[in-house]
Formats: sequence, structure tokens, C-alpha cells
Amino acid sequence: MTKIEKDIYEALEKKYGRPHQVTVCIEELAELTKVLTKYLRNNQISLMMVIEEIADVEICLTQMRIFFDMKNGVNFFKDFKVRRLQKFYIEGDLK
Ligand SMILES: [Mg+2]
Repeated sequence: MTKIEKDIYEALEKKYGRPHQVTVCIEELAELTKVLTKYLRNNQISLMMVIEEIADVEICLTQMRIFFDMKNGVNFFKDFKVRRLQKFYIEGDLK
């Protein structure tokens, strides 16, 4: 994350407050859910709309990382879970 991104997300929190920004994130997650289901179900959604919603969610998740990432907690769990997937699906350890 660049310093400009961090400054923007901190300015948003200062202006609107954390609960509002968390609510926006929930809304963006719902929008991505909606376009993905519509894309799979009937192809009435263009790939560009899916990509746009993914971008919205990534922006919001970056902001949530600033809010909730206590000393790289997100990175810790992400690394742990990716290693577990690697063990199961790449190394074949399905125990
Ligand atoms: Mg959106």
C-alpha cells in the first residue's frame, strides 16, 4: 500500500467515521456477491462489471486492513491458510 492510499483511507475514516466505512465495505462485498452470482447464473453481467466490483472490494479490504490489522494479523492468518492449502492440494497431504 502506498502512502497516498494510506492517507486517503485515513482521511475517509476521519471524515465519515469507522462504522460508516465498515458499512460501505459490507455494501461493496454484497455488490460483488450480486454480480458474481448474476455472472454465473445467466451471463447478464459483463466481465467488466465483475472486475469493477472486485476493484471496489479490494479498495475496501485494504481500508479494513488499516482498521483491523493488529501488527500484521491479517498477513499471519493469510500465510497460515495459504500454507495449509499448499499442504493439502499441492503436497497431497489430505489428513
Ligand atoms: Mg461496488
